[in-house]
Amino acid sequence: MSAQDWKQYICRACGLIYDEEAGDPDSGLAPGTRFEAIPDDWVCPLCGVTKADFDPYERVVVTAAAVAGQRLPVQGGVVIVGAGLAGWSVAEALRAALPETPITLVSACAGDRYHKPELSLALGKGQTAADLVTETGAAAAGRLGLRLLAHTQMVGLTPALHQLRTTRGQLRYSHLVLAQGASPMLPDSLPASLCWRVNHLQGWSGLQQRLQGGRREVLVIGAGMVGCELAEDLARSGHQVSLLDRQSWPLGQLLPELAGQRLRQSLEAQGVRYLGAVEVASLQQQGAQRLVTLQDGRQLLADEVVAATGLKVASRLVRSAGLAYDNGIVVDADTLQTSAADVFALGDCISIHGRPCRFIEPIARQAQAIARQIAGRGSSGAAHQQPVIRLKTRALPVILHGVPVAGRAWTVLEDREGLLRLQQAPEDGRQPVLLQLGAGQPMRAAA
Ligand SMILES: Cc1cc2nc3c(=O)[nH]c(=O)nc-3n(C[C@H](O)[C@H](O)[C@H](O)COP(=O)(O)OP(=O)(O)OC[C@H]3O[C@@H](n4cnc5c(N)ncnc54)[C@H](O)[C@@H]3O)c2cc1C
Repeated sequence: MSAQDWKQYICRACGLIYDEEAGDPDSGLAPGTRFEAIPDDWVCPLCGVTKADFDPYERVVVTAAAVAGQRLPVQGGVVIVGAGLAGWSVAEALRAALPETPITLVSACAGDRYHKPELSLALGKGQTAADLVTETGAAAAGRLGLRLLAHTQMVGLTPALHQLRTTRGQLRYSHLVLAQGASPMLPDSLPASLCWRVNHLQGWSGLQQRLQGGRREVLVIGAGMVGCELAEDLARSGHQVSLLDRQSWPLGQLLPELAGQRLRQSLEAQGVRYLGAVEVASLQQQGAQRLVTLQDGRQLLADEVVAATGLKVASRLVRSAGLAYDNGIVVDADTLQTSAADVFALGDCISIHGRPCRFIEPIARQAQAIARQIAGRGSSGAAHQQPVIRLKTRALPVILHGVPVAGRAWTVLEDREGLLRLQQAPEDGRQPVLLQLGAGQPMRAAA
């Protein structure tokens, strides 16, 4: 049987690919297990959603042979900025659509490939950064026949001249794809030198190395998705963890109180101390430790502080290049075209109708849509839809279908031992928002 005979399916919550050829031996699915043959109670090995939350996925396979012999030009062709999931996805899609076109990938980091959602589960699995890298940047560049400019920053952009300025000099492009992601947003009270941010492999790796060699007191600031997942992972790997947020319960911006309190209890049962409705006034070094002072005057000492206080897209460069910006680089939902000719953007750095959508699932479709546009094949667009939101906390899975509206009432559909299901009344003509805490039968919005 050839590789084309096997199908792949993508998890709508975390982007994991189930490949029939490889199966999932860790959960008892032998290589060659067809998707239809998987039992309904099988769960995504990375995030825990059920089979119902997987969609068919068409993997772009580009081999070195397909691009052998191609000469790499010094200038011109397509330039991609960013070597995260978005940058590499678009590189793969472009190479499959345009085997001959020169591609240059500019990235501030080393460009090594890894699956970012694993960063909030990897401590508990005893993994290191090397374990998480699936392909080095150099190997991926060789396979795709592209030029990788690693450790290189984009510092300026002139769309009218099709010119990009980098820390290694100027590049000309026929088309530009911006995939530079978003950066951690730190409140003034948190000096960057005193806290860890887990948004990239390198940041996570620094924290992981510091935590080796014994139980540490770790303070996680911000109880959004990343903060909750990291707090649980840190507790599961034996550290003493406090999780602190302005909101009275974790995921306070997404969950109603009933659900938020259940999540809080489950985190506390894992050993995470939750401090709600508090605000950090300052963070200082005190000997080998960090001293956190809260606005109510309380003080906390910790060995390590992790800031999970949200992301933002650096706007200065984007605006000075004349690109429209509204909570991210403004793109057309279908074509991923920015407000400048021949400039596209995807992934964490974009906003659609004024909203960012910082999840894995749309990235593959966005990459395909951009490749089609650049290859001139294009009308079928990215068909943007809200991904399933899945909190990868092991103790109490949280699954959300749809985007809740703040202040709108929730109805309890089911509340029993280990399972809570809620629904938020739909806005005119829309699907209801469905929320589930705990393991249960797959829950989907009605078609
Ligand atoms: C801990 C964690 C867990 C997550 N879990 C999930 C999950 O379960 N499900 C889910 O859907 N999503 C999850 N996400 C979100 C998801 O991982 C991101 O949406 C996705 O990885 C974003 O990819 P990206 O390529 O757009 O950005 P990034 O991965 O941020 O990549 C940006 C790239 O641009 C480069 N760059 C930045 N600035 C410049 C510059 N000026 N010049 C050149 N290069 C630059 C960077 O070096 C990097 O290579 C999680 C995120 C985190 C942090």
